[in-house]
Amino acid sequence: MVQGVLAAKKKSARVIPVINPATEEAVGEIPDQGAEEVGRAVARAQKAWDGWRKNTAHERAKMLEEVARRIKERSQSLARLLTLEGGKPLRENVDEMGWSASCFEYYAGLIRAERGRVIPSIEASQLNFVVHEPYGVVGAIVPWNYPILLMAWKLAPALAAGNAVVLKPAEQTPLSTLEFRSIFDCLPKGTVEIVTGRGETAGEALVRHPGVSLIAFTGSLETGRRIAKICSESVKKTHMELGGKDAFVVCEDSDLDVAAKAVAWAAFLNAGQVCTSTERVYVHRSVHDKFLERLAAFSRKLIVGDGLDPKTDVGPMIGESYRRKIEAHVADAVKRGAKVLCGGRRPAALKRGFYYEPTVLAGVDHSMAVMREETFGPVCPVMPYKTFDEALALVNDSPYGLGANLYTHDARKVKRFFEEVQAGTIWVNDPLTDNDAGPFGGFKATGGGRELGEEGLREFQQAKHVHWDFEQQAKPWWYPYAPTAKSYDYSAPKKSGRAR
Ligand code: NAD
Repeated sequence: MVQGVLAAKKKSARVIPVINPATEEAVGEIPDQGAEEVGRAVARAQKAWDGWRKNTAHERAKMLEEVARRIKERSQSLARLLTLEGGKPLRENVDEMGWSASCFEYYAGLIRAERGRVIPSIEASQLNFVVHEPYGVVGAIVPWNYPILLMAWKLAPALAAGNAVVLKPAEQTPLSTLEFRSIFDCLPKGTVEIVTGRGETAGEALVRHPGVSLIAFTGSLETGRRIAKICSESVKKTHMELGGKDAFVVCEDSDLDVAAKAVAWAAFLNAGQVCTSTERVYVHRSVHDKFLERLAAFSRKLIVGDGLDPKTDVGPMIGESYRRKIEAHVADAVKRGAKVLCGGRRPAALKRGFYYEPTVLAGVDHSMAVMREETFGPVCPVMPYKTFDEALALVNDSPYGLGANLYTHDARKVKRFFEEVQAGTIWVNDPLTDNDAGPFGGFKATGGGRELGEEGLREFQQAKHVHWDFEQQAKPWWYPYAPTAKSYDYSAPKKSGRAR
């Protein structure tokens, strides 16, 4: 009997409830898998890989297009499930499905046009070329804020390149990802395996597995460091997409009504839980007060609520611990002299759910956590600057370097901004827009990985140089080293096969 109770307890400890952050109610549960289950998934992926990589690029492209078609076909139901588990407003999740399908289409097109490179040979009897080969089994680990899109950004290029993938979704948002088992069944069995569980269990088992050749990770800096440390022991390749603290600079020539809406969009989209959320705003002091009035007035009108309600602009935080971090950042700023112009609290009318009001802070500086650490919530601190030089220095005063925004029509400022700002994406007058064809990733502590574009494909390929001589002739610089033996002169191509 006691043994039975213990077994039941053990079993329940290996199940994770999935909580709707808008209601705090469970909407499902998933197994917390460990090394054994992950090992089986990796073994299936390894078996599938050999067949998958031998498909022609054309065949792989056709299957990726079928994945895209299926995502589009099921986008409404997938988006709804994602709102239930992740809280993001439904229309944003419908967009997420569209962008994810488009990513599979993009890489299907890119792999069809994929080419190696023939390079100059050092002798006329030779052919030298470079081909791009897959790594094998890729371990893909993604967070909860854009679970399907970030999955697509890894899986589409990894599969296009000929890798098999074992995917671990975040424990907060696994249900919509698990629906992809029936989407990926248009691929050969085992090509994509999905494992579920916590970071410390399923995640680490995947990272440590010797059969996984590359870990593609999107998540926090802290977890990224831990994974990089584990992978360094076996010199396993990692691809890191970590945190951000994106800045937004508003110049004195900006249309302030448009700039205020742009900042609100960039700061409050997905309740500020975007890696490229605007988390620091610098406004020229000549327009600072007018800009703040407009931003605060606009932000006060945003409707906070359940993402299933079509009127909702801003949904909940993913969980209580994330909301507490936001509250701690705002409290620290206020203690150091910041002023709350709107928000700065939990909405009184919403008794359940991890909500926080869109918040605009004035009077901030770089001594405050809200200007230095990732907040990951709907908090928009605004600071004045005097000169463009000062604005550039403030933007670069961050350990992160994911994206940066500029509002101006002054071409000289645009040039200085994109040349001097240490960030992977620069948006001028158009915040947060993605383009499948352009690389996305960060400088500095954001990790240096690149997704999307040709760069995103190269992350999942390793270059191989083939050096092929059509003749079999002994070379004069081989053993034995005799006084007549010549060393090779690489500076000029030689005639075919002639001993010199
Ligand atoms: P997190 O690092 O806690 O978790 C991310 C994923 O890693 C989850 O699937 C989690 O289960 C897993 N994980 C956690 N510990 C692990 C371990 N020890 N070994 C293996 N896997 C482990 O991050 P989070 O709080 O869920 O996500 C938010 C973070 O993600 C923010 O910092 C945000 O900036 C970042 N992010 C970055 C990008 C980008 O492209 N740079 C995009 C989206 C989110």
